[in-house]
Amino acid sequence: MLKRAVLGSGSSGNAYYMSDGETSILLDQGFSLIELKRRLARFDASVDELDALFVTHLHPDHVKGAGILARNREIPIHLHTKAIARDTGEFTALGIPPNQVVEVEVGEVVRVGAMRIFAFETSHDSPGSVGWYVDHPDERVMLLTDLGETTEEQKELAGKASVLFLEANYDEGMLEAGPYPRFLKNRIRSGKGHLSNDQAFTFIEESGFAGKELYFVHLSDMNNDHRLLEEQAKGLVSTPFVVCEKNRWYGTIGAAR
Ligand SMILES: [Zn+2]
Ligand SMILES: [Zn+2]
Repeated sequence: MLKRAVLGSGSSGNAYYMSDGETSILLDQGFSLIELKRRLARFDASVDELDALFVTHLHPDHVKGAGILARNREIPIHLHTKAIARDTGEFTALGIPPNQVVEVEVGEVVRVGAMRIFAFETSHDSPGSVGWYVDHPDERVMLLTDLGETTEEQKELAGKASVLFLEANYDEGMLEAGPYPRFLKNRIRSGKGHLSNDQAFTFIEESGFAGKELYFVHLSDMNNDHRLLEEQAKGLVSTPFVVCEKNRWYGTIGAAR
């Protein structure tokens, strides 16, 4: 069985954990080391058993803890080549030991134990942004977060996935009526911003996702409401789903303590 957990999602920190008992990986590391340990402990997991980290993009909520993790655990840190090449200053500031950095191209398959992991491009305002797909004999897991618009390739991948972590960042009405300045509202809505609840629903429908678990992630504090999203999803989504609230953790073993 492939255990999976949302250790946290949203603007204050993102990390996803997966383990089949032999191999354990993280997707994104937006927490301090202490906080990461605390969150892993909720799933009886530990940083000591991690084999690799895969990073979606260089925004701090996804990567600010990558350096401290790498300096404590000598594991490979995988990033898209373009995230490193175009953003050297931001990347260097993370303090990941160079010998642990693994640059990967989109579509290049990385094998870690029984997992075959590859990146696909996402449209976001951070160079070299990607999502990750974990192909394991037991599950096919897709992480699709931090993107302003979806692609045909992503729909095809989601159509074959058994577990989907999908961004539902904002409710259009709440964003419009909310306190953000116009430029920020436009940035969030843009093709390089974030997915709205409606866009997430459209994606689910158009991709034909029919897996066993769907997690709505990366909800905005200000421009979304998990109860509203849950109500809307009930009428529109036929697969079992979980709406992930900020600062809570979720996984195959249910919402942890
Ligand atoms: Zn983010
Ligand atoms: Zn981002």
